[in-house]
Amino acid sequence: MNRSAWVRLGLFLVALAVAVTLWFRVLRVQGDSQVVTYTELLKAVDDGKVKEVLLENERVLARLKEDKGGRDQSLVASRLPNMDERELITRLEEQGVAISGRIEQSSFWPAVLSSILPLVMLFFLFRAVGGMLSGGAAGRARPMSFGKSQAKIFDRSSENKTTFVDVAGVDEAKNELIEVVNYLKDPEKYKAVGARVPKGVLLVGAPGTGKTLLARAVAGEAGVPFFSMSGSEFVEMFVGVGASRVRDLFTQAKERAPCIVFIDELDAVGKTRAGGGVFAANEEREQTLNQLLVEMDGFDASVGIVIMAATNRPEVLDKALMRAGRFDRQVLVDRPDVRGREAILQVHAKRLTLEGVDLKLVAQRTPGMVGADLANVVNEAALACARRDAKKVEQRDFEEAIDRLQLGLRKDGRVMNESERRRVAWHESGHALVALSVKHADPVHRVTIIPRSIGALGATLQLPTEDRYLMTEEELRDTLAVLMGGRTAEEIVFGGVSTGAQNDLERASELARQMVCRFGMSSLGPQSFGRPGGSQFLGGAVSFEERNFSEATAQAIDHEVRALLDAAHRTAHNALSARRAVLDAIAGELLVKETLERDVLEAMVRPVPIAPEGARA
Ligand code: ADP
Ligand code: MG
Ligand code: ZN
Repeated sequence: MNRSAWVRLGLFLVALAVAVTLWFRVLRVQGDSQVVTYTELLKAVDDGKVKEVLLENERVLARLKEDKGGRDQSLVASRLPNMDERELITRLEEQGVAISGRIEQSSFWPAVLSSILPLVMLFFLFRAVGGMLSGGAAGRARPMSFGKSQAKIFDRSSENKTTFVDVAGVDEAKNELIEVVNYLKDPEKYKAVGARVPKGVLLVGAPGTGKTLLARAVAGEAGVPFFSMSGSEFVEMFVGVGASRVRDLFTQAKERAPCIVFIDELDAVGKTRAGGGVFAANEEREQTLNQLLVEMDGFDASVGIVIMAATNRPEVLDKALMRAGRFDRQVLVDRPDVRGREAILQVHAKRLTLEGVDLKLVAQRTPGMVGADLANVVNEAALACARRDAKKVEQRDFEEAIDRLQLGLRKDGRVMNESERRRVAWHESGHALVALSVKHADPVHRVTIIPRSIGALGATLQLPTEDRYLMTEEELRDTLAVLMGGRTAEEIVFGGVSTGAQNDLERASELARQMVCRFGMSSLGPQSFGRPGGSQFLGGAVSFEERNFSEATAQAIDHEVRALLDAAHRTAHNALSARRAVLDAIAGELLVKETLERDVLEAMVRPVPIAPEGARA
């Protein structure tokens, strides 16, 4: 039963309890009874009208002698608290009335129900809370099945229609996995030539690159049972549950081999065991991990089970997982290049009706985006199209979508006062003009002073002409100069700077530090300083986890960083003051139009490349 079925059952029980209670209320006053006062009842006894009397806990029922109508009639009176009944009984005996007593049976069921109901409610409350604590896993479970694995099984027959066609732009990973698929389809062929297929395949890559999607595509292609479970589902509140789930998962898998076992987000269980904390969760994770290792060792590859797992944090995984015979093959699901991005866009845009859309240009404008981001771009474009009540998605919808995702929602409601707008206009014009002046900067795609929600008051978008795998020192220096351009323009025009340049400065400083410490692009020479920390796929700046240099070197590094930034500032200053008129023209145009496109900008700026300051020839 799923959760909503349980809720419905609970509601039904409550309604039943209420109905039963009401029913007994009605039953209690059977027949034709008339509610009277105690005095009236005594009077009836004295008058000899009463045939028999029934004493209950809270009331007295007097059945009257039959009247002419031949119908039973009775009087009901409340008993008085602490009443001396002897007198009543004497009177009744005098009149020869039969007396009987009754412990109120009618209150039995309501009493039982009222003591059971809270228990029932507590049970539901417990389930709900338990479900929340364990990330919803227990909530979906059948009750009392904590140790059972809840692996989702996909067969070819089931609704999983994902195939390799749905996965684009990650061809290397796909090729590796096709081999796995082929093996599972025809294990005999591989056995015949004595080839051994890896027992475990680990998909590593940044979030959103399509690891989960790939695994499901393998299931769709292979046509063998596919057991899928997320690492977080193993780790429950209760110690030992995870381990027994792993055991259960593999028992099921062995029964249905050849098959695939897929463990998504392996890092949730596979974190390195060293340095455990005091929390039970750690203990639990370790037990789960150990059980996983035991199971992986416990069968040989000829059984026909291939274990796949995915993670975006391979660096935290326990080394034991990577040993031979375990996840001995790692498949990198890389960020897509420009062609890959175009292919992914095509996959997702299949559902839309496009008109004059150049997906290649969209791919060029989205460097660094992964499959999940691109799926999002396509969806946002469709939404933008719907917003303007159009039937076909056009290029401008994609432009809007990219802006939205890269810069946040435009804040039409935010009113900047005129002096702020002027400042922002010159700031952005500064970035743009420097970018158009230096030799190695990416072309400027668009400048805008429409404020966006994520803190940015304006933006200068540059369009890399190709994917970059490496950048030269000149390009990096020019990048620094462009970053400095906004702030420098403010200096020149307004004679001071504002807080608007904060993000530029952060990025520039970070880049300069990397140039000195990582890339050896300073007078400190070809040497790298500090050991990089952070995660390979989750981004992360240079952090000196391990400082392998002296205090004097640290000072020298600071000095070099400073020198790079100063040089960039001078380059920007030269470029802007040499063409102050152009700067003012761009800013003036921006104040009117708010957004300037590439062709407009390039028409305003005759290309006059200037030599960057401080570059070593
Ligand atoms: P991961 O598991 O690597 O974090 P997912 O597989 O969950 O990423 O990807 C999320 C979504 O992004 C997918 O459902 C799919 O719509 C889209 N997507 C990601 N990568 C690709 C790709 N290579 N080709 C097509 N769509 C992709
Ligand atoms: Mg995933
Ligand atoms: Zn800026």
